[in-house]
Amino acid sequence: MIPPRAKHFASQRTTIKMDIKYYLPCKKTRRSYRLEVKEKEEHKFKTIRRGPLGYFDILPLELKFLILKYLRIEDLSILTIASKSMRNLIEGFRVTHPIVQKNLLHELHDTKNDCKPRTIESQQKHIQLFQKLGLLLKRSTCLYATRDRLKFINEFLTKMLCWNTEKCRNRSHCIALICFGKFFLTVIAGWDDTECEKAFDAICQHTCVLKNVKLVVTAKSGTHLKVEYDIRVFFRRIFLDQCNSVQERSFWLSCVLRPWPIFHQARLLFLLYGPALDDEILWFEHCENTPENAEQSTQHFGELANAVQILHCYPQEWSEDDIISVLDEITSYPDEWLAENVAHLLILCGDSITTKLLVSKAINGRMVELASITTSFCLVCVKNDFSLSYVVMMMQKILEAMDSNKDRLNFCNSFTEMFREVIMDSHEFGDNDQGHENDMFFMVTALSEFTKKMFQMAFKSILS
Ligand SMILES: [Zn+2]
Repeated sequence: MIPPRAKHFASQRTTIKMDIKYYLPCKKTRRSYRLEVKEKEEHKFKTIRRGPLGYFDILPLELKFLILKYLRIEDLSILTIASKSMRNLIEGFRVTHPIVQKNLLHELHDTKNDCKPRTIESQQKHIQLFQKLGLLLKRSTCLYATRDRLKFINEFLTKMLCWNTEKCRNRSHCIALICFGKFFLTVIAGWDDTECEKAFDAICQHTCVLKNVKLVVTAKSGTHLKVEYDIRVFFRRIFLDQCNSVQERSFWLSCVLRPWPIFHQARLLFLLYGPALDDEILWFEHCENTPENAEQSTQHFGELANAVQILHCYPQEWSEDDIISVLDEITSYPDEWLAENVAHLLILCGDSITTKLLVSKAINGRMVELASITTSFCLVCVKNDFSLSYVVMMMQKILEAMDSNKDRLNFCNSFTEMFREVIMDSHEFGDNDQGHENDMFFMVTALSEFTKKMFQMAFKSILS
């Protein structure tokens, strides 16, 4: 009888002897070349037919990316909406191959400091490029959560901020933030208001801009000249200047102003849209000088008036009383504005806002202020070649809003006395220079034009 241990070895020996593969473990099984080619062809065919990217699927990833490098941004953008797999591929390409190269960023910032503004064509070319990039990011990240998309936007912004580069020498000629603004508004186009607010907050938080706004609105105007101009450029170029509609612009302007009390809102509005020269906000301009003609008036007050009108178009957030309070604050900061400048601003703000403001002054018995603004209206109309019918119409509305005849008479008397006072003042205290003579001339002309209007109205039946 064979012992069990010896029996085991015997059976193992037999198995080894029988299996030829034991001796040739690395030997490749012999196959026909024809069969191999056929199998490869079949695999390729299956990949092309069943693979989500078709012919593209048979290429290795490196080669796919190499091909994508040759495509234009708009083509990549269209490919992202071709299929889910194509979108994933483009997204992978976008993340691993930065499309905004360093030399492009240098082009956007003003690195030459030669004070030569860019041509409109060159500006447009760059802005359009960033619009295309925005569309690419919008499409390739359409399935991402808002939080993740905002992270991409902020990463993009970090690369473009002027204060993150030594190269940016002239902020007024730099277009980096304008390009980012176009990019940003393209990415978030179609988002609802809550998401847009999140986007605004995310950008403000990422850049700490609100800390700078607080510093500026709580300090004396002009203390932080550079920070003031940076804030103006930041909000205007990213959120406000690239908007396609009034509605959109009023939304963003409200986002900028919302966190602050009325007093600071007025300062911010002036900081954003008041007159500026050589990267500096001219805070005292309207307390000291007046425009010479209609063109200068639009230059100095046009943007500010437009901003007030935009807020007026957003009644969900801005009541007429809010707008009047803001206007009151603007025109008395940093010092009281010259009455003529208040008139310039109000005329550009439009009838609706002006009437509301004047009527509120009339109801509150602020006669001297009212008389001062209405006489200045006559002056501005004469200077800018407008008809004085506008002043007559405004006065009529003020008189109608007053409660008693005594108040009405009081206002009419204050108005004519104000004319007398202003003319006498400029005669007594003015210097004999050219500007002063002009002021005197315009004031007397304004009075005579207004009197003509009154005559026409008083003797209408005889004159017609
Ligand atoms: Zn710059």
